[in-house]
Formats: sequence, C-alpha cells, structure tokens
Amino acid sequence: MKKTPFVTKEKIEEIVKTIPTPFHIYDEKGIRENARSLKEAFSWNKGFREYFAVKATPNPYIMQILKEEGCGFDCSSYTELMLSEAVGVGPKDIMFSSNETPAEEFSYADKLGAIINLDDITHVDFLEKTLGYIPETICCRYNPGGVITLSNNIMDNPGDAKYGMTKDQIIEAYRTLKAKGAKNFGLHAFLVSNTVTNDYYPKLAGILFELAAELKEKTGADIKFINLSGGVGVPYSPDQEPNDIKVIGEGVREQFEKIMVPAGMQDAAIFTELGRYMLAPYGALITKAIHEKHTYKEYIGVDACAANLMRPAVYGSYHHITVLGKEDAPCDMTYDVVGSLCENCDKFAKDRKLPVIEKGDYLNIHDAGAHGFSMGYNYNGKLRSAEVLLREDGQVQLIRRAEEPGDYFATFDFSKEYSSLARR
Ligand SMILES: *Cc1c(COP(=O)(O)O)cnc(C)c1O
Repeated sequence: MKKTPFVTKEKIEEIVKTIPTPFHIYDEKGIRENARSLKEAFSWNKGFREYFAVKATPNPYIMQILKEEGCGFDCSSYTELMLSEAVGVGPKDIMFSSNETPAEEFSYADKLGAIINLDDITHVDFLEKTLGYIPETICCRYNPGGVITLSNNIMDNPGDAKYGMTKDQIIEAYRTLKAKGAKNFGLHAFLVSNTVTNDYYPKLAGILFELAAELKEKTGADIKFINLSGGVGVPYSPDQEPNDIKVIGEGVREQFEKIMVPAGMQDAAIFTELGRYMLAPYGALITKAIHEKHTYKEYIGVDACAANLMRPAVYGSYHHITVLGKEDAPCDMTYDVVGSLCENCDKFAKDRKLPVIEKGDYLNIHDAGAHGFSMGYNYNGKLRSAEVLLREDGQVQLIRRAEEPGDYFATFDFSKEYSSLARR
C-alpha cells in the first residue's frame, strides 16, 4: 500500500520556525479513527476493551487521546504507572503486565486499582507477601511453549521466551489463587510480535479459549476476561498487505462462538493490549538532510540518528522514507540515509531508491509512532528529540520538548564540582 505522509512540506516549514528538527510528530485524527475501528471490530463482545501498551508511546497527551476513546493502559514499570496515574485512572483501568517485577511496583499497581497479570507461578506467593493479600481480580500469563506458525511464514518460538507459565503451572496457580481468595480470573498470552496477517489473534484466541474451558472445568475459576495482549502489527514496507481489523475481530468471534459459548463463558470479555497497531502509523520522525557524501556509496546525512529511532539499527527494520515536497518525484537515486552516531549501524535506510535529495530537504520517516521515541537513548551524548502533536483542527502542540545538555547532566554526581555542566 502506498505510504503517504500525514503532514505536508508546508506544514513542516511552519513548525520548524519554532521547533527545530529532528522531532517526532503524531496525528491525532489517525489515532482516534484507528482506535474507533478497533472498538467497532470487537463490538460483538460486550466487555471488550483495549489497554494501550504505554511502552510504545509513553506520552500523557497521547494517552489522554486514547483514554477519551475508551482505552485503558497496559503498564509494565513504575514510571508507566505514574504516567497512567497522571492521566487519571480508576479501578481496572490498568493492566499491569510485567515480568521480574519489583515488590514496590506490585504495591503501586495495586494501589492504583490495576489488574495484576502474574508472569510466573512463584509470583503468587511473592504478591501475597508484598500486598498482604491476593486481590479479588487477578490474571495469569500463559506460555504454550513450542513453535507457533502463521500464514506468510510468520513464525515464533514461545518455547524460547522468558514470559508466562506452563499449562500445569497455570492450573496450579489458579487453584492456589482461588484458595487464597481470588474471585475474578483473567488469562493472558503474547506469542508473536508485529504480525502482519489476519490469523494471529484468531489462532491465539483459539489457544486461550480452549485453555480457559479447561481451567474452568479443572479449577472452577470464574474467568471474566481473555487478554489477547499485543502483537497485531503494521506494514512497515509498502509492499506488505495491511491487517484488516474487521476480519481479525470476526476471526476471534468465530473462535469465541465455537469454544467459549458452549463452555458457558459467553459473558467473558476480550481485552487487547496493542501498542504498535495503535500508534506506529500515526507518528513520523521528521529530520533534515544536512550533508551529502560521495565515496563508495552515496550518503545522505540527516540531523536525527539511531538515538531518536533505533529500530533500523538494532533490528535492521525497514522504515519507509518520503522526501517532503518530492512525493511524486521519480526515485532515481540510491542512497544510504545515515545519522551521526559513531556506529556503522546508524542507517535509517540502506541502498534505498529515493528522489534526488538536496541539503535542507525534510525527510518523513514513516511508522515511527510506536517503539520510536520510547526506545530512544543517549549514546554518543545524543539528546532525545521533541514530540509534537498535530491536532485534529490542524493546530500544532509541543507535547515534549527536546532534551538539552542540562538534562543529560542532571544525574551527574559531581555537578557541584563541575557546575558548568549543569548550565545549558
Ligand atoms: C510490548 C507489549 C505489548 C504491546 O505490544 P505491541 O507489539 O506494541 O502491540 C502488549 N503487552 C505486553 C505485555 C507487552 O510486553
């Protein structure tokens, strides 16, 4: 599918008058429309709810938009819980799906009324010791082991993943939790990441629904919800076919009617914890071409680097690039588009067919709205970029300023002795 930026060159030229590149920009309209279509696709299920995976885009302004669309939040750390509290949460508005969890994070999650999702059977005792009780509503994470295969040759290896409990463990955990006072149960699994196929959720739903029926029979637990977690992906490359959320919702419904209804669990809610699917296409990294270099290859040097978007550098991920204002120009050149880190993996694109790029051109790096800014880091002393929100009415709002050197040195122990570092 052809990739079209949600901003124009003219809009960017207006923004850079006050907010210099590089920055991440998010599209409120796209975020809202997509959240609504997800809700619509699962509207057959009375209790359906999306718990946005905060780690994908941990910004309270983005979270507020999703809250207004009815989403809760999926958190896995102390600061993600703090963000959710700041945006405003009530009981059961948070799924706390973490692993190797410190005691204080369980306490904080419980204080906020989060639904706690236990990653391991030993966490039953750990949680009870930490809180002094077992919450009435509790969820357990399942790992079926082995290898899972979907269409399009998508394959993953849950047997090699650190998350979740085996079937025997989850049966035992449910029994113990029930004996300790838990009343409402949930079941969770995350088996494959970034699936660009409509069969991942239905397949996962089939696995979890079968297990729910077995758990109900063996433990008598009252299973209130099935959490399909994250993993529905986006087509980073224009030659991939995008997921059809309507088809995915229907696929899950078929499994629900086949397995849950006959098992007497027709009132169970479906939860999702999508991150990438909710935000990736609705965010872009905007960067300016500042150098060109002709050696054994043609290079375009930009003012962003892997510290602003590390997926290409660490996973070799493809991110589509549009040169703003040259949307329809022929792609006559082959470039490596590179950042300034002293690491040769700092390349947003390798051997990419693009129009002729001149210094000063703005590049729109697509699908950077999830696991983009949030994976940023400070290697090479690079500072994190700003985040900008394009409102539905066309207004532009700075929702996080860029880091300054003072931010980078703020945690420095010797700031008294080397006090000049604390200044800008
Ligand atoms: C990362 C994560 C998600 C979100 O995954 P996406 O691929 O962004 O949809 C959801 N749940 C848990 C527990 C996660 O760790």
